[in-house]
Amino acid sequence: MSYIFGPVPSRRLGFSLGVDPVPFKTCSLNCVYCQLGRTTRLTTRRRRYVEPDEILDQLDEVLALGQRIDYITLSGSGEPTLNSGIGELISSIKERTQIPVAVLTNGTLLFREGLRSQLLEADLVIPSIDAVDQEVFEAVNRPHPSLKIERVIEGIGAFGEIFPGKIWMEVMLVKGLNDDDNQIQRMAEVLQLLRPDRIQLNTPVRPPAESWAEPLSRRRLEDICRRFGPKCQVIAEFSRKAQKAYTADREEAILSLLSRRPVTVTQISQGLGMHRNEVIKYVETLTNEGKVSEEIRDGQRYFRRRIR
Ligand code: SF4
Repeated sequence: MSYIFGPVPSRRLGFSLGVDPVPFKTCSLNCVYCQLGRTTRLTTRRRRYVEPDEILDQLDEVLALGQRIDYITLSGSGEPTLNSGIGELISSIKERTQIPVAVLTNGTLLFREGLRSQLLEADLVIPSIDAVDQEVFEAVNRPHPSLKIERVIEGIGAFGEIFPGKIWMEVMLVKGLNDDDNQIQRMAEVLQLLRPDRIQLNTPVRPPAESWAEPLSRRRLEDICRRFGPKCQVIAEFSRKAQKAYTADREEAILSLLSRRPVTVTQISQGLGMHRNEVIKYVETLTNEGKVSEEIRDGQRYFRRRIR
């Protein structure tokens, strides 16, 4: 089992080494735009899903390679804060290296004081917020039934009060679900109260869990960005030139697999021993470059090599 992936090039974080501390699609949300597909384990229960030592052994091996790494990023294929050992994990990473640690989180569990204190040693926390009322929260994020958006917002605010590092808030906007003027105005007010260091606007340009989850246009996103103020930036990748995959060998191995038969991300991941998130990055780049095409069969997304 691989808990480390990358480093993968990331527009926001440079070369980001991913750390995945929970099993695939173990999450407190089931977002309509999730590029990993639907959540299979919807939970708010924090557990030691993976022991920090198991992750640290793998991390040591990667760090010993001396590659360029700009951030060690706790993210992966579910909600990383569901791992109750996350505080221990961050402390142990900080003991090993000076590379900054980022946590990508959906922010839903920050109302728990214990979790807030576990994240204090991170350098950067990027929580998401896609709604300010319960109805929209349920439509976009399809949360665990116990989660209330008011409490989630309070939790993010309480974390901001004590966290010494940087907080960037990510907002994912889905056409027709959370992009009407009233919702945007109220979101702007909440963001102003939360006072993050940056606000990053996104929209589902990558294949989402639900094919009907449509992106906003670049113009609309930029318009909303202006309303969110000077800290806001659009981070959606509209360009066909996505991040270039970082090794030609891996790219070639994926292309070779795809020329034999159409395969899913999971099949590529199992076939080549790569983490799903890393496979997604490569496939996305190859699709944008026109080298790979995709098709849906029985609700599954398959990729195949394009023959020119
Ligand atoms: S986008 Fe993130 S928070 Fe939403 S379902 Fe996927 S892993 Fe969970």
